[in-house]
Amino acid sequence: MLNPAEYIKQHIRTVENWPQEGVMFRDITPLLQNPKVFRVLIDMFVHRYMDEKLDVVAGLDARGFIIGSVLAYELNLGFVPIRKKGKLPFHTVSEQYELEYGSATVELHSDACKKGDRVVLIDDLIATGGTMMAGKKLLERLGATVVEGAVIVDLPELGGSKIIQDSGLPLFTVCNFD
Ligand code: AMP
Repeated sequence: MLNPAEYIKQHIRTVENWPQEGVMFRDITPLLQNPKVFRVLIDMFVHRYMDEKLDVVAGLDARGFIIGSVLAYELNLGFVPIRKKGKLPFHTVSEQYELEYGSATVELHSDACKKGDRVVLIDDLIATGGTMMAGKKLLERLGATVVEGAVIVDLPELGGSKIIQDSGLPLFTVCNFD
């Protein structure tokens, strides 16, 4: 019997040169398609946070929504989406961050959480860490405390997980790819 993290890792597919030349895309859809693996993953997240005093689960666009919303449901908490620019209909706060080429912006509804809320922030993967750091800043601008960031995959060679941990945000990762 494999350990759960190894079992999960074995169901992540690598697609080479997508969406552009040189990128090894770590595709979680095989994991989501398999009910047993999906359950092992969600159970791992639920057990990690079930005794934690939390108010909100936040998820990063778009694969963070899939895991984050199921986790929120299981923990009996609300879910808030952090979306790419221009998708949220109400008043928003926004954060721009640098990508390898150009920049990106993420947004959060200004009433998504309130001062003092304790939040766990979910995505599928950490590469450079820019997306998660931008999400953390948005939540903090509303006065929330981000208790931990959590992802399925870390790409440690890209340095993002170190930047996040150096910023003082604890980070939970299920598995790594070189
Ligand atoms: P970053 O902001 O550089 O940490 O990038 C993380 C975000 O981009 C996450 O929302 C991921 O879904 C996506 N992403 C970046 N690189 C990859 C990759 N190699 N495979 C899959 N998703 C990726």
